[in-house]
Amino acid sequence: MIHIASPDIGPEETAAVNDVLKSGMLAQGPKVAELEKSFAEYCGTKYAAAVSSGTAAIHAALYAAGVGPGDEVITTPFSFIATINPILFIGAKPVLVDIDPATFNINTSQLEAAITSKTKAIVPIHLYGQACDFDELAETANKHNLKVIEDACQAIGAEYKGKKIGGLGDLGCFSLYATKNIMSGEGGMVTTSNEDYIKVIKQFRQHGMTGPYEYADIGYNYRMTDLQAAIAIEQLKKADNFNSARQKNAELLNDKLADVIGIELPQIADNRTHVFHQFTVRLTEEFPLSRDEFIEKLKENGIMAGAYYPKALHEYSHIAKLGFKTGDFPEAEKAAKQVVSLPVHPKVSKDDIETIVSAIKELANGS
Ligand SMILES: *Cc1c(COP(=O)(O)O)cnc(C)c1O
Repeated sequence: MIHIASPDIGPEETAAVNDVLKSGMLAQGPKVAELEKSFAEYCGTKYAAAVSSGTAAIHAALYAAGVGPGDEVITTPFSFIATINPILFIGAKPVLVDIDPATFNINTSQLEAAITSKTKAIVPIHLYGQACDFDELAETANKHNLKVIEDACQAIGAEYKGKKIGGLGDLGCFSLYATKNIMSGEGGMVTTSNEDYIKVIKQFRQHGMTGPYEYADIGYNYRMTDLQAAIAIEQLKKADNFNSARQKNAELLNDKLADVIGIELPQIADNRTHVFHQFTVRLTEEFPLSRDEFIEKLKENGIMAGAYYPKALHEYSHIAKLGFKTGDFPEAEKAAKQVVSLPVHPKVSKDDIETIVSAIKELANGS
């Protein structure tokens, strides 16, 4: 079976977890602090704070940026649900902007039209591992005095004009969930160079605590454990190698699938890198099978492919009821019908690529 994701856990991770277990101190402690230091260094920010998930990272970042009830937050309807749920939990209103069909990222030319006097922040997503159009976005954000909170959950290590994502906006949010490019099972990170923000986030993850039984504000228990931090420290050291393995696999898939009719390959826009969290193609009407049949047939051939995401976010009932309807974001809706992600992770071998490519070519030929 060729899996769509498979965490690469070496002896370094195992040893690091063992050390934490032996220390007897499992909760947030020195390993979390060490991870925060190296994560900030990696992203080129002054600070990083570890939290329990990418979702918690986005929630904490919105809170630190001062987003609250009645505010509007701009994002796209083509992402994982975790981009939008924290906006709802904060009490803010998600305002959606359609995607650029070439990159699946926010269409910055439509950004200006979505801004109102209530807009407080933009949450761009670096979807599938490709940095979004950051200059255009930052220009609009600056003009209207908006905070930029990057959903960088899929894109650790990706760059825009030579600068790492997560350090482009006011705050960056990362996930260390088991399927991400680097992982700790569950976990999240917030990056920023703003001292006030990091202070708020470190309080927010721990009940608003400022000292022993001193609570300056409300908060959650969004802490990461030292067990997870120990894994993440080792994974971060391997991030660039993992990413280049993904990029090499993507290059092979791109080369070998180039002439398949009915498959549109991923495009990388200028001035940025793509770390291929997913290798996502579009299956067009020219392909003899529907997207769901295609995924099913690949599975029969031992290849796990996936539709990320099969539905645009505004089509889920708890979001639709805010006033959205099908037809509002045609590019996101079209992408949701067409996208298929193929295995691209570092454990996918050259032989696996051959298996994937020949299975797809057979399906394309109607056999
Ligand atoms: C994974 C992911 C999240 C949420 O991360 P969790 O760690 O699962 O909470 C948010 N946004 C995007 C785009 C993601 O891929």
